[in-house]
Amino acid sequence: MKLTAQVKLLTSSKQAELLKQTLEMTNAAANYISGLAWEQKIFKQFSLQKICYYATREKFKLTAQIVIRVIAKVADAYKVDKDVMRVFKPLGAISYDSRILSYNIETSTVSIWTLSGRQTIPFVCGERQRELLQGQRGESDLCFVDGKFYLMAVCNVETPEPKDVDSYLGIDMGIANIAVDSDGTIFQGKSVKEVRYRHRKLRQKLQKKGTKSSRRLLRNRSGKEKRFATWTNHNVSKAIVTKAKDTGRGIAIEELGGIRDRVTVRRSQKVTLHSWSFFQLRIFLWYKAQLSGVPIVAVDPRNTSRTCPSCGHIDKANRKTQSCFSCVSCGFSGLADHIAAVNISGRAVVNRPNVSDAQSTA
Ligand SMILES: [Zn+2]
Repeated sequence: MKLTAQVKLLTSSKQAELLKQTLEMTNAAANYISGLAWEQKIFKQFSLQKICYYATREKFKLTAQIVIRVIAKVADAYKVDKDVMRVFKPLGAISYDSRILSYNIETSTVSIWTLSGRQTIPFVCGERQRELLQGQRGESDLCFVDGKFYLMAVCNVETPEPKDVDSYLGIDMGIANIAVDSDGTIFQGKSVKEVRYRHRKLRQKLQKKGTKSSRRLLRNRSGKEKRFATWTNHNVSKAIVTKAKDTGRGIAIEELGGIRDRVTVRRSQKVTLHSWSFFQLRIFLWYKAQLSGVPIVAVDPRNTSRTCPSCGHIDKANRKTQSCFSCVSCGFSGLADHIAAVNISGRAVVNRPNVSDAQSTA
């Protein structure tokens, strides 16, 4: 499996200047190549290479490997569509491969190519990222964010064979509760709600002010909020995967799309952060499960919150309120998110390929 490790470069001011110049020169080259591609209607990487490789090296004094990367970046950008000429930002990310960038994990430094030759730059990252870096292969993107340089390194991670399981822990993701499982466990630190409330209050205050400094503060807040959501999602996904592993079960979640149909969010709420957070939790669950050898499946999300797990009756009216389920046919009732998680769990078992059947017919 491929994961991305993020490391922060501790540049001297001279090195920061060099990296900036390198980004600027490289993106200028990308714009030059993009212009040629657009004029001549040549968009494929190898054809582009033929018409612009030498000219670009000559004009921008870039190393062969960088020029190849830049041509790939331009060709990639035109893959989406060829309706408009692509223009790259002066400090947009560029990708490095092992010939122009190497990591020394022991000394926490990178050796990276710049316009003035290679530079050795110290980096910092968390323990988890450092582990990932052991499997660093292929490309890393050099990014400039809020005045700091980061490398996003693609890393290979060995994953164990998923274990054989008979049952699945169903997971329902929601607004009120981050996640509820089919055992009825609610994953929601109280603190999450409190922090969200505090953030919202502060945001409203800052938005009202509307000054330059309040706008900057607002940006910082949204960064903090995102980091907090990420931290929460890490903890929740870890707890879920550990539980599934310890009880010998797989994990079942809804296929993408189900969430958007079901959850109704008031406009005043920050819809983008919510949907971003859902998506992130899914990704975390997915890779943590794989790393732990816990099978994970996505099931059809239709009517998971309207179906009675007791009698099978499907009815919109089964869902009395956002939080309460009560079957209009048999009277079975409970927490709506829990019921949905039970249905998700049930569908995973039904979906499971029946191995013994396959064997008997063979
Ligand atoms: Zn029922």
